[in-house]
This record gives sequence, structure tokens and C-alpha cells, in this order.
Amino acid sequence: MNRFEDLATPGVCGLQPYQPGKPIEELQREYGVSDIVKLASNENPLGPGPRVREALANGLDELARYPDGNGFALKQALSARHGVDVAQITLGNGSSDVLEFVVRVFVQPGDEVLFSEHAFAMYPIVTRAAGAKAVVAPARDWGHDLEAMQALITDRTRVIFVANPNNPTGTWLHGDELRAFVAAVPENVIVVIDEAYFEYASDPALGAAGYPDASRWLGDFPNLVVTRTFSKAHGLAGLRVGYSLSHADLANLLNRIRPPFNVNSLALLAAEAALADEEHVRQAVHLNVEEMARVTDAVTEMGLEFIPSVGNFVSIDVGGDAASVYDALLRQGVIVRPVANYGMPRHLRVTLGLQEDNERFLAALRKVLA
Ligand SMILES: *Cc1c(COP(=O)(O)O)cnc(C)c1O
Repeated sequence: MNRFEDLATPGVCGLQPYQPGKPIEELQREYGVSDIVKLASNENPLGPGPRVREALANGLDELARYPDGNGFALKQALSARHGVDVAQITLGNGSSDVLEFVVRVFVQPGDEVLFSEHAFAMYPIVTRAAGAKAVVAPARDWGHDLEAMQALITDRTRVIFVANPNNPTGTWLHGDELRAFVAAVPENVIVVIDEAYFEYASDPALGAAGYPDASRWLGDFPNLVVTRTFSKAHGLAGLRVGYSLSHADLANLLNRIRPPFNVNSLALLAAEAALADEEHVRQAVHLNVEEMARVTDAVTEMGLEFIPSVGNFVSIDVGGDAASVYDALLRQGVIVRPVANYGMPRHLRVTLGLQEDNERFLAALRKVLA
């Protein structure tokens, strides 16, 4: 028993901490294995590009100073990129930070927050931490069932989270259906469309024809919030920087609770450089397309099923209890992600790495399942 639980808010008492992918150093410590491949956190295997490295080197001289609390230069670049006003942007310490701001601004204890079964694990955490009720719509074919979600909107619903594509399923929604859903949501309910994997999903080669850029709809829906991150295709997960785009009045509220220095100075510089380096993102996306084909072809050959994904990861049905397969893979130095906590006890989510990483994973999986 935790001696402070009586004092904590009820929402916090019911929480389990977010389970991140196992760090490489931890596997080394616990299992004594070396030469480890980590395919567990949807990180970009290429890392950041050369322009980011250069920006970071230049930023070292300014580390004694506080960061620009308004992120002026990064916001200018984002404003130009998205064709939005600077006042529509809210910067986050990762986009998860912004998801939390939305709940803290709009949700009180007893209110409802709606999202889908198998959706991103931060949604229930930020909801319950606010003392709100998580309303979970059943999934259809592992993805969001927008009809089921619409049917669950009540007069207590304050926020709806939609991940497009979703993590850990990789499923995605077509622009027509998603736009119709947003249009049907009452204007006093905030709809967050989480586009953490936008760069991957919007590449035509991955097959998501009709995948939308929801930021284009901001002019039509003042209750819409679109989140993006530098953690995935831009390769900056370790620096923590993401943002939302919304109506300026909504952004104004989010910025009232945003800690002034939530994005550090190196992250601001790196994000600005990463945004400008479109070639590096193209390379990451191109690699992802090739490796998606390699991994899904190979698992199909092994007789396994997977959920078709437009992210930089794929969830594979390992044909039984995935926990033991996860553990056996760890012993071979391959870290993937168990997703039982997402209601998917038969699946493992595998991030697409470099070709040699993915081949290590496939060889280890063949051995484990043999
Ligand atoms: C990774 C991820 C995020 C963002 O993570 P940050 O590093 O906090 O920007 C948001 N949503 C989904 C669905 C993700 O998978």
C-alpha cells in the first residue's frame, strides 16, 4: 500500500504509469545481453539529420540562458509551413504535453473524454489524471469506429481524441469519413486529431490514398485541435518537442497553462532545423516504405497475420500469448513492444528500423517461433 494514496486525487490512484519501451541499457543490465536492437518506441532509425546536428552544436553556447518562452523562430517556421497564424500554435514538450493541456483546460472531474479501444495510451492517462471518465468506443477491424464513437457523445463529453493513424494498430481514417465525423461533433466538444505519424501516413507509397491533413480544416471547425510531433519522422524523440494547431482562441487558453519554458532551447533550434530539412524526412519515409514491405512480407511467409499499418511500426499477431514471445526476443537482444495493455495480448508492435535491424528481428522471431 502506498502511504500517500489517501491524499492523492482518486483519478491518480487508479492510474498505471505509461509503460515505455525497454531502454537498451536496462536490457543490458538485466539480461547481460549485448548487441541490442531496439524496435520498441517508433523512433526514427536514421536519427536526426545533419542540419539538426549543426544547429545543436551552435546552440551549446547559449545553454546558460533560458529558452525563448514563446518559441518565436520555431513558430514562424511552423506558421509558414502550415499556412496558419502564429497565434494558432501551441508548443509542447513533445505533443503528449499538448494533449495534457487540452484536458487540463477543458475537462473537470466527472466530465467525459471519448476515444477508441486500442488507442494511444496517453489518452486514458491524461483523462484519469483529470478525474474525468474515459469513455472507450469499441474498435472496428482494430481501427476507430467513428459511428460507434459518435453514438457515445453525451452532454458530458468535453474532449474526443482521434489518432490518425493510430498507435499501436497503424490503422487510419480516410479524409471524407473523418471530416464528416468532425462536422457532426457538437461545437462545444473539442476534437483532437493526433497526427504523430503524419509524414509516414501521407506518403502515397505507403498506400493510404485519401489520408487527410486535418490542419486544412481548422478554418471550418473552431473546436478542432491537430497535433504533430518532431519525435517520429524528424528523429528528435529525445529532445521532446511537438505542437498543436487550432483556432487562436483555443490556443490562447492552452498557452495560459503551458509552462513558459516547456520546450528547451536545443529542442527549439533542432525542431526548426528539422522542419527545414525536408530531404531527411523524405529519406526516413522512403526507408520506412521499403522496410514495411520487407517485414510484412516476411511475417506473412511465417504464416503470421499483421494489422496493415501506415505508421513506422506494425503490430503482428504472434499466434498466441505474446508475452512469452516478447521475453524470448529480449533474450536474443531484440526489444519490441508488448501491447497487452492496449487490449492486444496476442500482438507485438515492431518499429521499423534499418534493414539490418529488421533482419535481426525477423531471424530472432523465426527462431523463437520454431
Ligand atoms: C509518439 C506518439 C505521440 C507523440 O509523442 P511525443 O514524443 O510526446 O510527441 C503522440 N501520439 C501518438 C499516437 C504517438 O504514437
